[in-house]
Amino acid sequence: MKYYQNLHTHTTYCDGKDSVEGMIEKAIALGFDSVGFSGHSYMFYAPDHSMSLEGTEQYKKEVRAMKEKYKGQIDIFCGLEFDMYSEIDLSGYDYMIGTAHYLLIDGKHVGFDRTAPVVAGIIKDYFGGDGMKYAKAYYETLAQLPNFAKTDILGHADLICKFSEKENFFDIDSPIYQKYALDALEALTGKIPFFEVNTGAISRGYRTTPYPHPFILKYLKEHGWGACISSDCHDGNFLKQSFDDSAELLKSVGFKEIYILKDSGFEAVGLD
Ligand SMILES: [Zn+2]
Ligand SMILES: [Zn+2]
Repeated sequence: MKYYQNLHTHTTYCDGKDSVEGMIEKAIALGFDSVGFSGHSYMFYAPDHSMSLEGTEQYKKEVRAMKEKYKGQIDIFCGLEFDMYSEIDLSGYDYMIGTAHYLLIDGKHVGFDRTAPVVAGIIKDYFGGDGMKYAKAYYETLAQLPNFAKTDILGHADLICKFSEKENFFDIDSPIYQKYALDALEALTGKIPFFEVNTGAISRGYRTTPYPHPFILKYLKEHGWGACISSDCHDGNFLKQSFDDSAELLKSVGFKEIYILKDSGFEAVGLD
């Protein structure tokens, strides 16, 4: 790859291991051209998994200060990983990653981006043990994302497949599952311009391959979405996790370029 950028990067402001500056130093050491920070948006329903409101203001200030400090060495962007039920001020960011990590069930925010046993419990408690109903609920939720915010990048589109290499909560090859996913993507097409190939589950040992699944990538390619590659980084040692594999995956389904954020906006860069 010619250009290394990661726009999905967490720090100690939320659930990451590195400080903002520590992450920048690792990015430089790994040969990145730029790095964008995407702290978890404040979630009143999950304060332990998000930036605090006060922390969010500090985060914005610190990332802006680092952008100046490292000018000429590495480009820095200030973004946000927006969870769709966050009710927060969305101003002051260079870009926004839109995500769904919670299902809203009977007024309760149910977090499924945890461990496989937590997911098994959710399927048992809320979906009568039927994993396919859980998958349907996720994609119906995801389809609502544009009603909550205008976002640039669809984050981990099939997040519920985080455990799909080891657990069989639902059959990802079945037409019914694929229809749920593609119905959601159809609802999002034209409303969110970019998506990410996400490698975060690899560095955390949940998966060996990046996701989304190739059937989703093919749909996104056919429907004009632009691709980004991200490591959903919570530990700077894994900032470049499987970027080259992700480029190969994108090429295998017909993508010829990825999109990179510059000061002037997103630009296409060839994958060759
Ligand atoms: Zn996420
Ligand atoms: Zn993330």
